[in-house]
Amino acid sequence: MSIQLDFRTLSLTLMLFSLVFGLGMFAYSREHPKFSGIKTIGTGYFLIGGGGVLLGLRHFIHDFASIVLANIAIVIGVVLIYRGLFKFIGISLRFERWLSPILVVLLAAVMYFYTFHTPDVNLRIQAFSIVFAAACFIGASGLLQHREIHNRMVARMLIAMFLLVGAFFIFRFIWSFYEIPPDDFMNAGFLSALAIIAGEFLVILSSFCTIWMSSDELQDELSDIARIDPLTGIYNRRAFDECCDIEFSRALRSGTTFAIIMCDLDHFKKINDQHGHHIGDEVLRRFAAILQDRIRQHDVVARFGGEEFVLLLPNNNTEQGLQVAEQIRATTEATQITLNDDISVTLSASFGVAHYCAGDSDWSAVLHRADNALYAAKKQGRNRVVDLTTAHQGLHTDLMPREQT
Ligand code: GH3
Ligand code: MG
Ligand code: MG
Repeated sequence: MSIQLDFRTLSLTLMLFSLVFGLGMFAYSREHPKFSGIKTIGTGYFLIGGGGVLLGLRHFIHDFASIVLANIAIVIGVVLIYRGLFKFIGISLRFERWLSPILVVLLAAVMYFYTFHTPDVNLRIQAFSIVFAAACFIGASGLLQHREIHNRMVARMLIAMFLLVGAFFIFRFIWSFYEIPPDDFMNAGFLSALAIIAGEFLVILSSFCTIWMSSDELQDELSDIARIDPLTGIYNRRAFDECCDIEFSRALRSGTTFAIIMCDLDHFKKINDQHGHHIGDEVLRRFAAILQDRIRQHDVVARFGGEEFVLLLPNNNTEQGLQVAEQIRATTEATQITLNDDISVTLSASFGVAHYCAGDSDWSAVLHRADNALYAAKKQGRNRVVDLTTAHQGLHTDLMPREQT
């Protein structure tokens, strides 16, 4: 018993899928113009759909359209799908730029020759299969060579899709040597019907993966927005809390220590009052830049709120934390901030330092000590670094902050 699939119906479904998904891609690209390549993929779908329509109209329209144009449109469609994907991901594949057009031109010539000069359905099937398989392998090789896709699941799905469809067309090519050649493509066997379904598979899966990748990027963007302070561009308190969670677990696990520095600009309100809020904003940005400049790669700096900043220094004890804070304090004091050529602002900041001690039930205990130290620094006259660690350890019962300047 042989399975019969109706070619015209399949061609029309290919057209329907491609048209709907192509329109969807264009609409999506309008909504999200920052993603490049989506329109190229959509155009690829339209070409595949157009090829499907021409294919389904065999015997109703001229053979040039229903054979030559249809096949060329479908192959260009696949080329555009992987070119769009490459563009979206940021892949550039040098050999693809000349190889794909050569394949298309070759196929057009062969199709024309075996339609009008020496008509041969089987040779056309073989030529199309080999070119289509080559196109799929180009798509797979681009994705295999470049590992830019963060979501490994999507990358695997796309690579598997191209490899699977490519392998299928190779199989169809080989099989065609053993089959009785069909007199007409509309009567070609089950494998040719499957070839149309393979086209649908490409359209559906590639669009699904593209939308998945863009939703990943949008999610990353949202998570950045949720973690970054918009004014200064450094982490906000939420991100800082997450980093502290990680660092605290590490300290518990491996016995490492960490220091937290809290700092607050001195008399910042005066800067706002004297020069205006926008100058105050610029001062906050410059101070954040000073902090970032002074830290090591694994340290974390965040805006805690208002004109208060906080630093997390992994593998640092209080002594080292004090040194870092003192360096930042001195740099801040020495920095003359000039704005709009005529406004010159001098700054100072106060710092509270604390480090993780065995027995701390939470990192917020360390933060709390740093906050107390900062309060002490303010009380002692500002522009200084204080730690209360020795007092915390019970060495001093009077809780007198240690003054650094
Ligand atoms: P102290 O030395 O005691 O810390 O005095 P201060 O003036 O720095 O502190 P105070 O808490 O009295 O004032 C903080 C000011 O910071 C008040 C508020 O308007 C200002 N501020 C908070 N967030 C921002 C901001 O995002 N931009 C600007 N320009 N000002 C801000
Ligand atoms: Mg202040
Ligand atoms: Mg404050």
